[in-house]
Amino acid sequence: MSFQNPVFIPGPTNIPESLRKACDMPTIDHRSPLFGQILHPAREGVRKVLKSESAEVFIFPSTGTGGWETALTNTLSAGDKILAARNGMFSHRWIDMCQRHDLDVQVVETPWGEGLPADRYEEILTADTNHEIKAVLATHNETATGVKSDIAAVRRALDAAGHPALLFVDGVSSIASMDFRMDEWGVDVAVTGSQKGFMLTAGLAIVGFSAKAMAATETAKLPRTFFDVHDMAKGYAANAYPYTPAVGLLNGLNEACTMLLNEGLDNVFARHSRIAEGVRAAVGAWGLELCAANPSVYSDTVSAIKTPEGFNATDIVTHAAEKYGVAFGVGLGEVAGKVFRIGHLGSLTDVMALSGIATAEMCMVDLGLDIKLGSGVAAAQDFYRGNTASVQKDAA
Ligand SMILES: *Cc1c(COP(=O)(O)O)cnc(C)c1O
Repeated sequence: MSFQNPVFIPGPTNIPESLRKACDMPTIDHRSPLFGQILHPAREGVRKVLKSESAEVFIFPSTGTGGWETALTNTLSAGDKILAARNGMFSHRWIDMCQRHDLDVQVVETPWGEGLPADRYEEILTADTNHEIKAVLATHNETATGVKSDIAAVRRALDAAGHPALLFVDGVSSIASMDFRMDEWGVDVAVTGSQKGFMLTAGLAIVGFSAKAMAATETAKLPRTFFDVHDMAKGYAANAYPYTPAVGLLNGLNEACTMLLNEGLDNVFARHSRIAEGVRAAVGAWGLELCAANPSVYSDTVSAIKTPEGFNATDIVTHAAEKYGVAFGVGLGEVAGKVFRIGHLGSLTDVMALSGIATAEMCMVDLGLDIKLGSGVAAAQDFYRGNTASVQKDAA
């Protein structure tokens, strides 16, 4: 593996030099006003990225998975009913976590490649007249399949049913890369991590709690210690953590938020969308298909690309690493061996994306797939040439 090539895995993502520098800092007293000067702006920056006026932002030394646990354990009690759909490996793992916490999950099995079935959610919530369902889980961007779901539609389903359940959204591979509107969508807990849209190394679980989610913490009985948001809030009030914070990463997060907000969230989303369109143009030129069932669910952060029947898609990933020193994502779970993934989120330009497309193409030709060298690159080039309007602005 070369350290010079960008990675094309859907997280961890490429780290901009300025963020690497921001993370590299001397030890400071992590219970001091100086630490507060890093912590509070970082939380404020995250709140803006979440598009929330009033969310309580908590940042744990952990990963996105710890963010899932934070959402569940602070707001729920054993035996509580949860509604969730399984349409990929990440939604599956969150469901598994619920079950291991003795939550009673009603699982809507959904074909991998499709988005969350908001209409089924509405039927189930409408039928739950006693309001036994306490929370609805929604994976905004299923990283395993490259499928985006419509969170506004899930909110509408809750509202149409007049149901008071909390709405928890896994935005680990969407937040800071794809449009996310915590307040507008009535999200009660938003979950992400540091190593995807925020362009840092793994190490932080980042969550936003709505006022309603904070109220639920008062009665929730699931055991929690490390992820207790009340302990965390008490720490924050004293410019500290209940334990030792990852100070360098928090400094990086603060800088990452500044970068994202300076670029402008809409520009960040447009850049991801443009880069993703180029990748999709290449996939089409290769004569291949996405795992994502239709354009309305295409993810702007990761493309899961189906390879022909009888071909092991994982060979592309292995070959790319061994021959070209480039990382792509393997298929996970049900789609293992059937898809390979190009991650196109975080710190990425059109030109970097072209190098990934070119490498994938070389690998597929090397491995005997019937693909014309240069076809995908040309399709992406054509798209990028015609859609460069905001590139200069991005770079600024
Ligand atoms: C990466 C990812 C996770 C898991 O996050 P970790 O930081 O690896 O714990 C959860 N959900 C989605 C959608 C992801 O992409």
